[in-house]
Amino acid sequence: MANAPNLDTADFVVVGGGIMGCWTALHLARAGKTVCVIEKAEIAHNGSGRNRGNVRVQLRETVERDLINRSLVLWQNFEESARSTVEYRVTGNLLVSYDETLTADFQIEVDRHRAIGLDAHVVQGEALRELVPQISPDIVAGFLTTQDGHVNGQLATWEAARQAKLAGVRFLRGTVAQTIEYDGEKITAVQTSAGRIATKGVLVAAAGDSARLLEPLGVKTPISLALHQILVTEKLPFVTGPYLRCASPRISFCQTASGTLLLGLGPASDIAPDAPQRVEPSKIEAISTETIRLVPALKDAHIVRSWSGLFDLTPDGRAMIGPADHIAGLWVATGFNGHGMAIAPAVTESLAQSILGQAPSVGLDAFAPTRFDKPRVLEASDEPVSRIGHLGNLVAPPIQ
Ligand SMILES: Cc1cc2nc3c(=O)[nH]c(=O)nc-3n(C[C@H](O)[C@H](O)[C@H](O)COP(=O)(O)OP(=O)(O)OC[C@H]3O[C@@H](n4cnc5c(N)ncnc54)[C@H](O)[C@@H]3O)c2cc1C
Repeated sequence: MANAPNLDTADFVVVGGGIMGCWTALHLARAGKTVCVIEKAEIAHNGSGRNRGNVRVQLRETVERDLINRSLVLWQNFEESARSTVEYRVTGNLLVSYDETLTADFQIEVDRHRAIGLDAHVVQGEALRELVPQISPDIVAGFLTTQDGHVNGQLATWEAARQAKLAGVRFLRGTVAQTIEYDGEKITAVQTSAGRIATKGVLVAAAGDSARLLEPLGVKTPISLALHQILVTEKLPFVTGPYLRCASPRISFCQTASGTLLLGLGPASDIAPDAPQRVEPSKIEAISTETIRLVPALKDAHIVRSWSGLFDLTPDGRAMIGPADHIAGLWVATGFNGHGMAIAPAVTESLAQSILGQAPSVGLDAFAPTRFDKPRVLEASDEPVSRIGHLGNLVAPPIQ
């Protein structure tokens, strides 16, 4: 195929029409680059169109704090610049518990969050019931942070694509990127199902499919997949303002701008690449049962829709963002571990700045894709420890 005629040329090719691909393309085009986005299916076809839009500040890992803080500003700006709303709102996050002994852990988290300048509270009794009036009387306490937001990821991705198109980005939808070509040192082209595109720069933002393109180029991409399932209720009167999560069992839901609830239950289940992504009846049952236990008044709510989507997981829970050092012009943005929508504005801004040779607004070194080439070093933390993990899950108490 090396002698096949070029379909096109571009300064930069982006593989993946999710939020990461579309928004990075937008930044590059606005900086004057000719950019082509290759999407094998449709814009927001994958995680970016199937997520629950929780712009979570609560329990963010230390390395992601600057990204989420910057993203809160950029989401607000994006909402204001959008042709019509992407439903970005500041809602807060509320982690609740049936277990009284977790109240002390919530207090540790409140102190830890306040120490880094966040607004955080333990809420109980009346204060808790003001936030979620119909919450079960068995819920004893909540951990509230108030700066978290909520966005409609599908709308946001299409809006980023719309703005990118206006800025001159060309989109090849329904087109598969098959291989990335290089001459031993630098990128030369992307071979697609529609032909070859000559280019000196490529961003692989293909979520769980990224390994197929990157591994042949010598970029270790240890991504595994997990399937998460979502149920959607009919439009309901007010149920909750904050994104509501329970520490155990891990039922969670948000109420969207239109009034529907997006329900889910962790943990997501491991799944092999290419395995069918079904919504499992047993999971539907479990989600319904735990939702009604948490908010008994929802027993009559109708489920109107369901879907499943993939998390692309890395061994250390951090995304792979940045250059693949050994091939000039090869860039990576993948492995967002099921919480990439929240930080997408800052990730794509800083990534585009790095591609353009500018200093990034937020440093991305902790996410270097090349880190899996080296043995893993576990970092010690001197922060106080609670039994609540960084995603709000209960974790084993530390060994004394
Ligand atoms: C059910 C669910 C709930 C979630 N909830 C949240 C949440 O509440 N908050 C949050 O922050 N995050 C959440 N996430 C995670 C978030 O959606 C993702 O981290 C984010 O959308 C990742 O964007 P992306 O652009 O990297 O990937 P994707 O949106 O998956 O885009 C990758 C694109 O690449 C395309 N592609 C793949 N291979 C090729 C190829 N060879 N050629 C051309 N195109 C290709 C795919 O078709 C796809 O469209 C959730 C995810 C899921 C699945």
